[in-house]
Amino acid sequence: MITIKSPREIDVMAAAGTIVADTLQLVAQHTRPGVSTAELDDVAETFIRGHPGARPSFKGLYGFPKSLCTSINHEVVHGIPARDRVLREGDILSVDCGVQLEGLHADSALTVPVGHVAEDVQRLLQVTQEALDAGLAQATVGNHVGDIGHAVQRIAEAARFSVVRELVGHGIGTSFHEEPQVPNYGKPKRGVRLTRGMTIAIEPMINMGRPEIRTLDDKWTVVTRDGSLSAHFEHTVVVDEPGPRILTLATAGVKT
Ligand code: MG
Ligand code: MG
Repeated sequence: MITIKSPREIDVMAAAGTIVADTLQLVAQHTRPGVSTAELDDVAETFIRGHPGARPSFKGLYGFPKSLCTSINHEVVHGIPARDRVLREGDILSVDCGVQLEGLHADSALTVPVGHVAEDVQRLLQVTQEALDAGLAQATVGNHVGDIGHAVQRIAEAARFSVVRELVGHGIGTSFHEEPQVPNYGKPKRGVRLTRGMTIAIEPMINMGRPEIRTLDDKWTVVTRDGSLSAHFEHTVVVDEPGPRILTLATAGVKT
């Protein structure tokens, strides 16, 4: 079922979204060679729980054990923070974070370079962010879910990167994952029609090589089948007039 949120619910989701975005900025600041993903998870959980009523959405969601998903290099999403996963110069780290506040969720992700990364890797991050921006711009009243996917796909494939098909964006609200599904590919004017007050998470996962993925034996970590690098950027947005409103913006208003 697709739910339409009230202005009050949207305000709560924006408050949750600010905590998410500030958490991601804090984690990005702590991301450097020699740091383990478990340390970053600790920083995030402490920061989130420092806000009255806020808790990490991911902890316990479908049994996930940690507050962040941390996915390194060819890991696409759902990597589990661990003490023995230590970042190295030239890695990329995808950080995904959700916060629940007053029964409502917000969800955002970004991919950060660890120290200096190669030029083509930097380009993967930039193109994925541009693909997200293009998708967000389509989240307008009267457009369709297919307009979002088409915009994301066009940017990614024009850069000769590929779009992960099996994992998609989603509606979000009182449940972390709600309808509709929001694929990162599609055709204009196809799929669910967007109406005012719908809240969705748009989250392109873009691979440098081929689009196929698989899940590791830990039952969580999703990796590219060909071992190529993958980037992930995500915002939670409300479909509104005159245009979409991003709910996962950091306190300073700086886009993470
Ligand atoms: Mg997410
Ligand atoms: Mg999401």
